[in-house]
Amino acid sequence: MDLHVHSSVSDGSFCPEDLILYAQIHGITTLAIADHETIIHYNEYSQFADHFNITLIPAIEINVSDCKNLHILGYYIENRAQLEETILKIRKKNQEICYNVLESLKKEFGISLNPLETVSYSPDRILDKKAITKAILNQGYATNVKDVYDKYIGPGAKSYIPIEKMTAQKVIQLIHDNKGVAVWAHPYTISRADGSSIIGAEFDQMAKKLIDYGIDGVEVFTSKHSKEQTSYLASLAKRNNLVVTGGSDFHSEDVHQIGCPELTQKHIEKLQLKARRYNRLFNFQLQNRSRG
Ligand SMILES: [Zn+2]
Ligand SMILES: [Zn+2]
Repeated sequence: MDLHVHSSVSDGSFCPEDLILYAQIHGITTLAIADHETIIHYNEYSQFADHFNITLIPAIEINVSDCKNLHILGYYIENRAQLEETILKIRKKNQEICYNVLESLKKEFGISLNPLETVSYSPDRILDKKAITKAILNQGYATNVKDVYDKYIGPGAKSYIPIEKMTAQKVIQLIHDNKGVAVWAHPYTISRADGSSIIGAEFDQMAKKLIDYGIDGVEVFTSKHSKEQTSYLASLAKRNNLVVTGGSDFHSEDVHQIGCPELTQKHIEKLQLKARRYNRLFNFQLQNRSRG
């Protein structure tokens, strides 16, 4: 099982079909492709996954503005087209900002990136900072992603222009409005603008805030956490009656291993139960039946 992987629809290296086949080879029977800021292609992949006896859970991962690396996962979302539309509006607004980043790069650093070529780095041809990063790396102006942000487009750099992001409160509400379950992804990766980790009392404050906003679950099992962090999150989940999830955050073969060995059928059932408790899963199954 794995409840958190990425395909080339966002920033993963495998296309969804290859990712599903790859997951099958690795013995995975339940999978959630949680691409960044997009969920619309779920129906296509889900039918493909069915052929290979993989249960594909609809999922999305959304970056929020409250602090760096605060990501919210949405599972079992029913109104996927509606959610996609809301997010697409923001992405298109941010595209304008990113064109200004291209101009700034030229003015401040003499880095001239062809807009058409740069946009081709984005899987759905909407210019964003990921595409700009890839273009900069490809031109050899930096050696890695951190380098790109530190030197050119990150906070404090000359071509930094902030894009619009939704707050955690808004995203949790949006997931609920579209009949999904909201889960806090890899909690211990949250950090301040300077990159320093948020831990201790400050971490607890963020957890409390998200719980107050109505977060349904927490991604306890991920290789990004230490043993101590994992058990702390497990008890946090228990105390606050939150669903426990887990995933590899698989992007590519050379960086990650697919699968989350700690995850059991019980965890999936509890996630489903949460969805059902919101009267969501019932409709989801109906949709699936009429589809297939
Ligand atoms: Zn993430
Ligand atoms: Zn992720």
